[in-house]
Amino acid sequence: MKYRDLNIQTQREAPNNARTEGFAFLVRAGYLTRENTPTQLGGVTLNHLRNLSSESSFLSQLSLPTMGNDSESFFPIASGPIEVAHCPNCKYTERLELARFVKTPWPKEDELPLEKILTPDSHTIEALANLLGVPKEKTAKALMYTRVSDNRFIFVVLRGDMQLSEAKLKLQVGDVRAATAEEVERSGAAAGYASPIRLKDAMIVVDDLIPQSQNLVAGANETGYHLKNTNHGRDYSAEIVQDLIQAKAGDACINCGNPLSVLSTISLATRKDYDFQNMLLALAETHHDGKGLTLPHPSAPFDVYLMQVPGKEMDTRAKAEEIYNNLQNAGISVLFDDREERAGVKFNDADLIGFPIRITVGEKGLKEGMVELKPRKEKENQLVPLEKILEKTISILN
Ligand SMILES: [Zn+2]
Repeated sequence: MKYRDLNIQTQREAPNNARTEGFAFLVRAGYLTRENTPTQLGGVTLNHLRNLSSESSFLSQLSLPTMGNDSESFFPIASGPIEVAHCPNCKYTERLELARFVKTPWPKEDELPLEKILTPDSHTIEALANLLGVPKEKTAKALMYTRVSDNRFIFVVLRGDMQLSEAKLKLQVGDVRAATAEEVERSGAAAGYASPIRLKDAMIVVDDLIPQSQNLVAGANETGYHLKNTNHGRDYSAEIVQDLIQAKAGDACINCGNPLSVLSTISLATRKDYDFQNMLLALAETHHDGKGLTLPHPSAPFDVYLMQVPGKEMDTRAKAEEIYNNLQNAGISVLFDDREERAGVKFNDADLIGFPIRITVGEKGLKEGMVELKPRKEKENQLVPLEKILEKTISILN
């Protein structure tokens, strides 16, 4: 293709809304608008990636530092909207809300008798633990929902020091919404002092740590009162016992026990499909230097940036056209910068746009039967005899 056909507009300055260097270069090099919409060049690049994706080892060909699991691949980037838990040791990776980790039970105790205690102004776990002088690990946290599909009241119990992952709860029971005050009252629970004991028509769902936790302080279903020494199995039992907890940075990896990191990412691929625009951003983020993009083969939309420098005596353009046709006929993808611009402008644009190889056809070289060939990631030009261009190009790409 030719430069002018694609109507490429490069820019000198990074857009002021750029949150990452990769995005800034994609805008400056004319792949994306400031509003993150693909331009013609961007569209050609996305199509190119789509064509490549029919190959089975596609993702691994892209030279990207991805992380993932059987169902999804992610690319870590500060501006990414998806939080994942990642183990630097064994590479376990999962969306944060679904990540599993090793929980440490409180040391086992003998079950003690239930005891109702006055606990005024203690409707948070924090206040309750302070008032009673017990660690949060010895309290039970209650959360109340209503299942959307059938309005079933759902009472969730977690250890007081932990946070619910609604995503994990929904995997167990389906879609839920917060229970209304009326629904809470109807179940026999008391907001702020709720307990899973002696409820009416409630589905009790507990985190898998609860059956291993003895003598927890829980609400008494009576405002101002709590129960000491509640025990799952003896005082109430759950319909569902499953992992319901939201992982956080530092939790122990479920596979190897190392501390998990939490990273911001974008999703590149799920089992069903690829996100090519995220892939383009990941490529730009991974492959750039101070001058622009340095896209590798085969992810670059074109392998060669071909340009001619107008001569005083010779028709460099005709020779460049000839090289353009020869390379294309040999299956090399070429963008021909056919503009009447100064060499410096074209060099800058070639660096910004970042294809693997730049070939420059100039009068001085042509007089000796040579063109300049420059791999984007190398500093120096090579002078290559005209008849060796194809061979040299192929050897650099492979
Ligand atoms: Zn691990």
